Amino acid sequence: MLFGLRFFTFIRSTLRGDVVAFGAIAGIPVGTHFERRADVAAAGVHRALIGGIVGRPDAGAESIVASGGYEDDEDLGDVIIYTGQGGRNPETGRQVAHQSFTRGNAALVTSCLRGIPVRVVRGSTNAGYTYAGLFRVDEYWMEQGRAGFQICRFRMVAEEEAGEDRVTPPQPAKRIATTVLRIVRDTKVSQQVKALNDFTCQVCGTRLMCVGGPYAEGAHIRPLGKPHNGPDVLENLLCLCANHHVLFDHGGFVIDEGYLVLGLGEPTPLLGMTKPGQQFLAYHRSLWQQTSILTSENSLMLVKEWEE
Ligand SMILES: [Zn+2]
Repeated sequence: MLFGLRFFTFIRSTLRGDVVAFGAIAGIPVGTHFERRADVAAAGVHRALIGGIVGRPDAGAESIVASGGYEDDEDLGDVIIYTGQGGRNPETGRQVAHQSFTRGNAALVTSCLRGIPVRVVRGSTNAGYTYAGLFRVDEYWMEQGRAGFQICRFRMVAEEEAGEDRVTPPQPAKRIATTVLRIVRDTKVSQQVKALNDFTCQVCGTRLMCVGGPYAEGAHIRPLGKPHNGPDVLENLLCLCANHHVLFDHGGFVIDEGYLVLGLGEPTPLLGMTKPGQQFLAYHRSLWQQTSILTSENSLMLVKEWEE
């Protein structure tokens, strides 16, 4: 009876959306097994009986369930390529419409932008559920799913630094972790693209001068690593300022076939001494098709106009 009442309060507060609890849950080490979704919810690990994502667009996602049953999901252990919610027939589970970066998907984007770790639960009704620990949302994009519809994708990477802390969390139940992690990969080719462009941003023309010299970032157009596997070659890099690097990685703008920058107001020509490869620009554009980020700026219309 008492359990039922507490459980009800849980679900109600989740539905009201007034409680968001990030981070590890005290007394729930990584590897904890639960028989049913109801047990996962009652423990506070994933506080919803249905729905793969718990969170709010303005606050971030606190947890997801990677069921493994979805046709587009890929579970690589420490890396999960997770498919967002929406557009599925509730009876068949099949994708019947496009997804968008709204609701739970928007919450995961917020988690990525703010570096908030997400609790991950693996499992299914048949196999039961296991708490897999905290993951960060490393990257997000759109792509065409197997059923032919645009789906939201998230690259989730297991948090490493939590270490033993994950096994026996000493903190009180609702720990708030807000570590912002930003790794700028700097390879030999990256240094090359910066030198060739004299450390000047190819979008805005800014050359950031620091006390020790100029600063710019080498931005990979088709991202490195799974599942994109972009190559580390000069044609796959841009020389950008820190602001435009972030915007480029998060779909704030795209570059069309005519090397015009779309999404930042009036289209402007790409600057600089290096010309990126068309195949890589096309890949980057494909990641942001149908996104609210671009459609809200009317950029998708612009892309179409320029393509005609
Ligand atoms: Zn710039």
